[in-house]
Amino acid sequence: MTIVLGCIADDFTGATDLAGLLARSGVRVSLRIGVPDAPPTDAAAFEVIALKCRTSPVAEAVAETRKALAWLKGAGATRFFWKYCSTFDSTPQGNIGPVAEALMRDIGTGQTIYCPAFPENGRAIFMGNLFVGEQPLAESPMKDHPLTPMRDSNLMRLLAPQVTGKVGLVNRLIVAQGPEAVRARLAQLQGEGVAHVIVDAVADADLYTIAQGCQHLPLLTGGSAIAMPLPQLYANGATAAKPATQPRPTTAKAVVLSGSASAMTRAQVAHYTASRPHFRLDPLDLAQNGPAAALDWLATQDLSQAPLLYATAEPAQVAEVQRKLGRAKAGEIVEQALARLAVAARDLGAARIVVAGGETSGAVTQALAVTRLDIGREIAPGVPWTFATSAGQPIALALKSGNFGTPSFFDDALTALEPA
Ligand code: ADP
Repeated sequence: MTIVLGCIADDFTGATDLAGLLARSGVRVSLRIGVPDAPPTDAAAFEVIALKCRTSPVAEAVAETRKALAWLKGAGATRFFWKYCSTFDSTPQGNIGPVAEALMRDIGTGQTIYCPAFPENGRAIFMGNLFVGEQPLAESPMKDHPLTPMRDSNLMRLLAPQVTGKVGLVNRLIVAQGPEAVRARLAQLQGEGVAHVIVDAVADADLYTIAQGCQHLPLLTGGSAIAMPLPQLYANGATAAKPATQPRPTTAKAVVLSGSASAMTRAQVAHYTASRPHFRLDPLDLAQNGPAAALDWLATQDLSQAPLLYATAEPAQVAEVQRKLGRAKAGEIVEQALARLAVAARDLGAARIVVAGGETSGAVTQALAVTRLDIGREIAPGVPWTFATSAGQPIALALKSGNFGTPSFFDDALTALEPA
């Protein structure tokens, strides 16, 4: 099977989000954690490489993504996708722009698009401005993000300091005219020396128009949603679904781990704790005594009840802990505790693991030493079940980024694995 599209994602939940949307079309999607050491021998039509480089130093992010690109090229890919967050999480230094420019150089293309729109999750772009629901990005909760606070809503202004080339726009009025108009405007911008083109999109139909209008570009960049039309467009139905390579777990024993403090995760934890066994992790106690108490509690649990262990707390509580421990240390302690609990749960027989939090998902996946995931049924837009092997055991993992899903997400996730 030759690769139809090679994708690089800047974080783990973003990678499963992208893989899930690609898989909607029925094509086989394979997700690798990090750049594989071995050259590709068993590439799927749609390959996604998950990196953890959203907030790493620019040079590191560029080096990592170039390595991923080289692997995908080695597997035969000629079309590529650079996936970042639908809220354009970045700083004036990067990493969205510098990575895109490095990939463009390596691929040998003079123009690419930037389309973080994800209409199903309320992310829309109009006249170059990004909206989260009805709020401009800079007025949404993203303005207070701990690592990448977004204080401007205009994508052209956000991108310009990150790149050396010129930035331009294909606006919604042009997108509304159809794929040919998009292509013509891109050509016009190219004539004016514009390499980096923001493209407006407010609804799924726009994404299909844009994908068609950009079919000549070997590199596209954006959130996951703009990749959704690509399987149909590129593969032309030729790559039918293939049997999965990862075995499915046979036990329903499960655990839910939450290290996200985002508003939606807080609602999900409140919903789940009303009816399920749960244990709250106290970061200050973890800092002093380690996760022994949580591990002991877990060992007494009936895993068929899918117990929840969570550090999720209100912003004021998180701020208090961060004041005492330091922001990075607090995050690290919680992530490492949840990673250890994931391993312990697996060793106790849990084969279904639901994780809330992007960074948390990275820590858990690394601790489980998972290297490749197959993509299964979508639980909520952008959150599929995935299947992997950990310590020789088949496991199912659901990795949810903080703000995705509805309040019943954890129950929805477990129900989604039951036979229909
Ligand atoms: P999200 O996807 O919601 O951003 P992440 O897992 O990416 O979630 O990030 C949340 C960060 O907050 C993690 O580093 C986690 O360890 C940390 N964290 C979670 N709960 C607490 C808490 N109660 N106190 C301090 N830090 C916390």
